[in-house]
Amino acid sequence: MVSSYMYGLGSRRSVIREIFEYAKVRGAEIGPENVFDFSIGNPNVPAPDCVREAIMELISEEDSTRIHGYTSAQGDLETRRVVAGSYKKHGLEISPDCIYMTVGAAASVTITASALYEEGDEFLTFAPYFTEYAVFVRTAGAELKVVPTTEGTFQIDPEALRERISAHTKGIIINSPNNPSGVVYSEESLHAMCAILEEKQKEFGHPIFLISDEPYREIVFDGKKVPCLLNYYDNTIICYSYSKALSLPGERIGYILVSEKIDGWREIYAAVCGAGRALGYVCAPSLMQKVIAKCEGSTSDISVYERNRDLLYNALVSYGFECVHPDGAFYLFMKSPSGDAYELYERAKKYELLLVPSDDFGVKGYVRIAYCVKTETIEKALPSFRKLMESYKEEK
Ligand code: PLP
Repeated sequence: MVSSYMYGLGSRRSVIREIFEYAKVRGAEIGPENVFDFSIGNPNVPAPDCVREAIMELISEEDSTRIHGYTSAQGDLETRRVVAGSYKKHGLEISPDCIYMTVGAAASVTITASALYEEGDEFLTFAPYFTEYAVFVRTAGAELKVVPTTEGTFQIDPEALRERISAHTKGIIINSPNNPSGVVYSEESLHAMCAILEEKQKEFGHPIFLISDEPYREIVFDGKKVPCLLNYYDNTIICYSYSKALSLPGERIGYILVSEKIDGWREIYAAVCGAGRALGYVCAPSLMQKVIAKCEGSTSDISVYERNRDLLYNALVSYGFECVHPDGAFYLFMKSPSGDAYELYERAKKYELLLVPSDDFGVKGYVRIAYCVKTETIEKALPSFRKLMESYKEEK
């Protein structure tokens, strides 16, 4: 009667959504202030003032049809011009014709995979990875193959990539700063990855696309910068979103940038437009496109995430937890003292700490802590983390 695949997706929530829903139920039982929900990447830092000002200005316009009407399928030209212009800081002259506005990174990756897919194609990604990639790629008809990274640092392991890449590889989805590890891939490992992609393209005689999913691009700490991969590898497609750095996850706005350095980029761009059409997106939200035209380049106060990172990381390490030091995004990857992610997840729940087990992210034995919460929430939760560690020590 229904598609068993779609039924499976719709009737079983992702682990993250499951925990997020549990947090609401538990909050109703004991008071939301007593539940420490570190499950979801929903930014708690307000959007910058320019967003509210832009919305107020736009909705005060007399001609509401201009604000709320359909835009061209690929997005308003003015917005695409502004987005394209934002790459000047990387020394690039980008044409608005290679920008396609979307409803966020989830749509950007799904559309890109659907646009590129031909029968038998596979996409690769590095573990740990954003679990929804499996859904996005499967929706396109392809298979997602997972490439391990170096245990402990979770940096790209070039040899592991070389081993897994095959004649069926159409593209590789990378995400740095990474959800869930918080790792920013080093320049050295990115160069090594690109060299392997170049080598394998030649060997197999077809392009291998680098799909760079960058919703956390601006959320980096200690003065770090995320390199612009358009300058590293010609066959690059960027999937961007304003959900995280501009704190607009519910507004659903982002874009795809098809590099003009790709041989036949116009064909790929047309396929992107086709995939957006086939998937029923019509156009990205008109009001939000116009907000982006006014606010591109602004971010919410990223220093809050850095402060949260320092507070949480330093405390957890001092209690005896082993953590991956996050250089970006707003996730911390913490090792389970028992080696079992689910055991730690269940145990933490007893202390009202809601953490996400790592197994679904393609790595065993860790939990993800989303620290995009209020700093006070972390301060209040720290004694519970301490007790959690003590519970392990008492067992020894
Ligand atoms: N990609 C990654 C790595 C993410 O972490 C997320 C959301 O958490 C998405 C894509 C989806 O983001 P959006 O809200 O822009 O669709």
